[in-house]
Amino acid sequence: MEYRINRKTGDSFSEIGLGTAYLFEAGLEEGVRALQRAVEGGVNIFDLAAGHGDTYPIFGEALADVRKQVYYQIHFGAEYTQGVYGWSLDPDTVKQSVEKQLTELKTDYIDYGFIHCLDEEKDWETFQKNGILDYIYELKKSGVVRHIGLSSHTPAVIQKILDEVGPDLLMFSINPAYDSGEGEYAKGSLSARNEVYRRCEAEGLGITVMKPFSSGQLLDAKQSPFKAALTKAQCIHYALDRPGVLSVLAGARNTQEVEELLAYHELPEAEKDYSVIASFDPVDTEGTCVYCNHCSPCPAGLDVGLINKYYDLAKAGDLLAAEHYRTLEHTAADCTGCGHCDARCPFGVDQSGRMQEIDSYFRK
Ligand code: SF4
Ligand code: SF4
Repeated sequence: MEYRINRKTGDSFSEIGLGTAYLFEAGLEEGVRALQRAVEGGVNIFDLAAGHGDTYPIFGEALADVRKQVYYQIHFGAEYTQGVYGWSLDPDTVKQSVEKQLTELKTDYIDYGFIHCLDEEKDWETFQKNGILDYIYELKKSGVVRHIGLSSHTPAVIQKILDEVGPDLLMFSINPAYDSGEGEYAKGSLSARNEVYRRCEAEGLGITVMKPFSSGQLLDAKQSPFKAALTKAQCIHYALDRPGVLSVLAGARNTQEVEELLAYHELPEAEKDYSVIASFDPVDTEGTCVYCNHCSPCPAGLDVGLINKYYDLAKAGDLLAAEHYRTLEHTAADCTGCGHCDARCPFGVDQSGRMQEIDSYFRK
């Protein structure tokens, strides 16, 4: 397992985390086994906007003994009075749900207390008017909530809440389809979505990723908007390559699916390579470097994807990214203009020309 640090809080998250939309399907015994295997494999972050209330006792049973080694994202607005997941802005329902979850999780603290799933500005107003934000602040003051998180699918709402609250973690829906404007939660243009990624990276605000497989649609050619299937590894790699991203919270139904996720880091690069998305229709990425490194290896030793990522971030005002660029062993100044990357890039990027542009930008 590999880990990334949330610069806002210092917490170190496993690159592979677990979402819990489907875990309840495993039942108690198998669910416990799956969670314990995940922790044994190095997973330390879990999203708890679960698909069903039966999920929480599974966590209580599996992880109470190792509670201090793991991070929980708990959502103020997810409720389970009917068993299955429900979304609520009613303050009493929210309080009861959070208290019940804590009891069943066998814990007395919340690592990240989330402003849950706000996609419309009016819902954000209601969330505040109904006192739910104040309730989170109250719990933060008393030490029950350690940090505040935000989950949303909508870039404009995210930008507003980042301005107004300054949370410590963002959970955002990221996959190649949503970034191409395809799918139920493909909210915001690619540039609006890129602005979210770059702002988070620049401000040291980590992103955890929900819906990395678009609820499984991307794994099935019949359901995918691309009419072709991607693998879980390709989707995970794509999400981890977006600026600001710390951890991909993938759903697992049982131990076997946990094993599949844990195998990600052992796979050869070719199996994680997602550049095939350039051949899909529709794509909104023609001529834009998506940092996939399909063009590697560069004969001059440049990490083309990383250099491009630092450049885009630096242009967006990220001073740390500019610093990181300057410490690279090989920078755009070392590009020989051989054109290997241009010929290999499925996204039609004039990368040799871009390296000249990057070099002159950082020379200023
Ligand atoms: S130049 Fe093309 S192949 Fe290389 S990292 Fe960028 S998008 Fe990927
Ligand atoms: S053009 Fe530059 S960046 Fe691209 S492969 Fe050649 S040396 Fe590397």
